[in-house]
Amino acid sequence: GPQAIIEKKKKYIMPCLAHFYSNPQQMVKGSMQYLWDSNGKKYLDMYAGVSVMNCGHCNPEITAKIKAQVDKLQHVCNIYLTENFVNLAEKLAAVTPGDLQKSFFCSTGSEATEGALLLAEVYSGNSEIIALRQGLHGRTKLGMSVTGLTMWRTAPTPVGGIHFAPNPNCYRCPMNKKFPECDYACANAIEDLIKTATSGHPGAFIAETIQGNAGCVVPPKGYFQRVKEILEKYNTLLIIDEVQTGFARTGKLFAIENYDVVPDIMCMAKALGNGTPISAFIASSKVADTYTRPGASTLGGNPVSSEAALAVLDYIEEHKLAQNAMERGEQLRAGLRELQKKHPVIGDVRGLGLMDGAEFIHADGSEAPEILDDVLETLKDRGFIIGKNGVGRNVMAFQPPLVITKENVDDVLNAIDMVLTEKNL
Ligand code: PMP
Repeated sequence: GPQAIIEKKKKYIMPCLAHFYSNPQQMVKGSMQYLWDSNGKKYLDMYAGVSVMNCGHCNPEITAKIKAQVDKLQHVCNIYLTENFVNLAEKLAAVTPGDLQKSFFCSTGSEATEGALLLAEVYSGNSEIIALRQGLHGRTKLGMSVTGLTMWRTAPTPVGGIHFAPNPNCYRCPMNKKFPECDYACANAIEDLIKTATSGHPGAFIAETIQGNAGCVVPPKGYFQRVKEILEKYNTLLIIDEVQTGFARTGKLFAIENYDVVPDIMCMAKALGNGTPISAFIASSKVADTYTRPGASTLGGNPVSSEAALAVLDYIEEHKLAQNAMERGEQLRAGLRELQKKHPVIGDVRGLGLMDGAEFIHADGSEAPEILDDVLETLKDRGFIIGKNGVGRNVMAFQPPLVITKENVDDVLNAIDMVLTEKNL
C-alpha cells in the first residue's frame, strides 16, 4: 500500500522529490481524463501530469502507434539513419509558427531550454542571457540559472552573465503599475537592462509564453510584440519556452501564436510525447545552420518517442483538441468567476484555454497557500486531482487532458463549490 512505498521512497529516492499531498494515493491506472488508485478509486485528472497528458492517459490511438514501433525498432541512436525523427522534424516545421524549420531532439524540457540557449550562443557569439523573474526553465545548471523562480533554484551560484527582467504579471505587478497605462513598462525594462547591465548585444532572451510554475501568469496582449521589437534592435534572439504551454493547451497549437509573434528558437517537451520522453528545440535555418559541430543526444528523437509524437500531432488535429481547450477553458473560468462571487477566498481567476489558475487569498489579498493545500486534499479525497503553483504556492492550477468534457468541467466546479461552502470559505 501507499505507506510501504512512502517508506521505501524515503530510503532510496533523494529528498528533493517532495509529495504533492500529505496523504498521497498510489496511482495504478489511467484512461483519457481519468485515473485510478490502488484501492480502485476513480479520479478526474485536472493536472495531466503537469501539462503532459494533453491527449489523455493511455490514449488508445497513440498507444497503438507506440506499440507498433516498440515491436519493430526501439533504438539505434540518431548517428545511424532512421526515418521516424526526420518525419517528426518535417511535421514540426509545418506546424510551428513562421520560418521555424530545423529541429534538435532531446528527452526533457531542461535539455531543450539548455540546448536552445547553447544554440543562441553559437549563433551570436555572446553568452549573455536575459530571463524573466519568476520564470522556470529546467533542472540542469544553466536551466536553473535562468530560472527566476528562486524556490526552484537549488544551485546556490547561478552561472554568470544572466540578468532578470520584471515578469508581466498584471495582477501583482512587480512595477506597481496598471495595464495599459503602463505602456508595457516590464517589457521596456528589458531594454534598460540590455543598455545598463550587458555588453549591449546579449545572445538571448528566454521566457515562457505563460509562466506556469509562477502561477499561470498570462502576459497582456501585445507584450511579446514589444519584447520582440526591443530584442531586434540589439540582435538578441527570442527563445520561447513552450514546454508547459505547447500542444493545443491554450487554444492554439503553441501559446505564442496567441501573441502573433514568431520566436527565433522555440522549446517543446512534456505533451510532445504524451508521456513518452521526448523534447526538441526548433529554429529558423538561418540560426540552426550555425550549429555544425558534430554531436547528438543519445536518446533524442528515438524511434518510439518520435512515433508517439507523430501520433500526438495527428490526434490533436483529428480530434480538434485546440478548440475543445478553448471552449472548456472559457467554461471553466466563467464558472470560477461565479464561485468567486460567493467565496471570497478566490482571488484572481486567469488563464488561456486549459491553462488556468485561481488565486487563493486571505481577506487582505495576501496569498493563502495553507487554505489551498487543505482544499486540494479534500478535493482529491472526493475524486478530483487539481494542481497547485504560484510564487506564493496559492494558485489552484488547472491543466487537464484536453479531452475533458463539458460535464467534467461542471463536475469539478460543483465539487469546488461544495468544498468551499463546507469549509466556510
Ligand atoms: N520549462 C518549463 C516551462 C517547465 O515547466 C519545465 C518543467 N516543469 C521545464 C522547462 C523543465 O522540463 P523537464 O522537467 O522536462 O526537464
